[in-house]
Amino acid sequence: MEATALTVRFWGVRGSIACPSPSYMGFGGNTSCVEVRAGGRTVILDAGTGIRPLGQQLRREGALDADILFSHTHWDHVNGFPFFAPAFEPDNAFRVFAGHLAEEGGIREAIAGHMHEPMFPVPLDVMRARLSFTDFAAGETLDLGRGLQVRTAPLNHPNGATAYRIDHGGRSVCYVTDTEHVPGRPDERILGLVAGADLVIYDSTYTDAEFPARVGWGHSTWQEGLRLVRRAGARRLVVFHHDPDHDDATMAAIEHELAGESDGHLVAREGLLLEP
Ligand SMILES: [Zn+2]
Ligand SMILES: [Zn+2]
Repeated sequence: MEATALTVRFWGVRGSIACPSPSYMGFGGNTSCVEVRAGGRTVILDAGTGIRPLGQQLRREGALDADILFSHTHWDHVNGFPFFAPAFEPDNAFRVFAGHLAEEGGIREAIAGHMHEPMFPVPLDVMRARLSFTDFAAGETLDLGRGLQVRTAPLNHPNGATAYRIDHGGRSVCYVTDTEHVPGRPDERILGLVAGADLVIYDSTYTDAEFPARVGWGHSTWQEGLRLVRRAGARRLVVFHHDPDHDDATMAAIEHELAGESDGHLVAREGLLLEP
């Protein structure tokens, strides 16, 4: 692959809880995990259950050096981390970032607490890879080194969450989950982040029809994603963080409706590989 390429691969597209049952296999049952390759760099967005198969894939590539960016630390975004096999191997290095915990004890403490008895038998210290943990305030720009800058924005979600924008080689991908919109009032911080972007991966847990019964739950709709992308002059929406109540038949209906909007918008499914 050429060094300038930007690629995006989906390892987990589900929100809230994994759905490993037959009627979910078309779109996928693993929770949030997206792999971005920017030239020779690997950036992992969230560590939901999808990070386990990603880890299996990465192990085949030899020594690893990657950045892991957390949107936030609700279960569906961290539950795969203790099962990320490359983190147990001493030749690997991972830099972990989160933007919602600078005032709350930090990302290392949150992950260590998640991997702590009696909730989990293998503590964080058992991971042998070189791990570093960095807290920042959502809205800051991260410098991942070697010329890779990542813009961020705070999201409207219980306990906070962070959106990311990765630009590389003239292409861009935004990861915007989890967040709740206010009907009729577009989120200016998201609009600013996704302006002119090639790909916008967006929290589309609900439909506009379902949303009124879910106000305060911290999530948005695919229709709001479409409105944001159009208003911001971004190119393509990727519907993401599917509701566990939305089986393949429901997701196919959403995909069909989205296709009617043309413009190349997509519904994320496990294994999907995109080059923005
Ligand atoms: Zn979530
Ligand atoms: Zn959440």
